[in-house]
Amino acid sequence: MRSAQSVYDLRKANRNRVYRFLYESQGDQTVQDVSRSLSLSLPTVNQNLNELMESGLIDNSKIASSSGGRRPRLLSVIPSARCAVGVEISPHHMYLVVTDLRVNEMGFRVVSRPFEATADYAASLAGEIQSLLAGLGVVQDMVLGVGITLPGIINAANTVLEYAPTLISSPLELSFLREAIPYAVKFCNDANAGGFAEWWDQPEQPSMAYLSIGRGIGGAILVNGTPYSGARQKSAEFGHMCIHPGGRTCSCGRVGCLEAYCSTAVLSNHLGISLADFFHGLESGDGEKSSLWKRYLEDLSIGIVNIHTMLDCDIVLGGPLSPFLGKRVEQLKNHIDLLDPISHTSQHVRLCRYHEKSNGIGAALKYIDDFVSNI
Ligand SMILES: [Zn+2]
Repeated sequence: MRSAQSVYDLRKANRNRVYRFLYESQGDQTVQDVSRSLSLSLPTVNQNLNELMESGLIDNSKIASSSGGRRPRLLSVIPSARCAVGVEISPHHMYLVVTDLRVNEMGFRVVSRPFEATADYAASLAGEIQSLLAGLGVVQDMVLGVGITLPGIINAANTVLEYAPTLISSPLELSFLREAIPYAVKFCNDANAGGFAEWWDQPEQPSMAYLSIGRGIGGAILVNGTPYSGARQKSAEFGHMCIHPGGRTCSCGRVGCLEAYCSTAVLSNHLGISLADFFHGLESGDGEKSSLWKRYLEDLSIGIVNIHTMLDCDIVLGGPLSPFLGKRVEQLKNHIDLLDPISHTSQHVRLCRYHEKSNGIGAALKYIDDFVSNI
């Protein structure tokens, strides 16, 4: 005889299978489709569908067009039934994004506010989240949680920001942020979140390296969709691989790092212009910017080829540089084709999908993925 617990577990597993099937389906489905595809009896499917509809997660209001006989009802998930918030904290800004269960963007806000480890800062972030959600008409019960990315290394217990030279000079307890926000909160490294967003929903890429290129250069390695964080949460610090021994001094104190050559500051702040201005000048044929860009691409290619030589997987380029790369990715790939010592190709390199929103979306996705997996 089955125990009450195992009956409960089986029912929960079936409910999850039904929900996931509809979530992962491209089009609407009928009860018969669900029953046939999952090899579940019609009464079992109907029971689970009733529970999911009572929870407001499934819609059955559409009727199939006639193909003779009785027209069946069509089933689909309701993406707006829940949402999640992703927040990217950078030295000078907060970037907030709200997505529904299908990762459709519901709202986005950029707040200019320098980071400080104070209760005032935490209250201001909480206020921005609440005001964004209120403007979208989202009620508290719909919010799965708030994922917050930080540009640094977070401990395994998800409680302390251990190292983030652009934000802090010594380890920082993150409870002041958690306590100010009236939702579940998870913290994650910014590039890990961005990598997760770019990996998620792409079943053809089991493993991937994500290279985030901004003022800082970070990255993520995803092995079958799971971030490889390393023994001490320090993996994929691609910005600090040495590409020119004895070269330029890096923010980490060493010399010759990829970040010292391919930080976007090399194209903007060091010239006293914005990144947009740099690319505008490049587009207009400015000779000085063209030669700087050529050297920049050569250096970036070295970093990308090194990553590929070690990991032999797809490499996705993201971060603040990515919106400007566009058609210039082909120039970069031409350099990589010449440099790659083993595969002699750049087919594995591509641009990200979410650009400047990758980190926030990846942080929100931690909640969405968990909800869809465990409902
Ligand atoms: Zn470095």
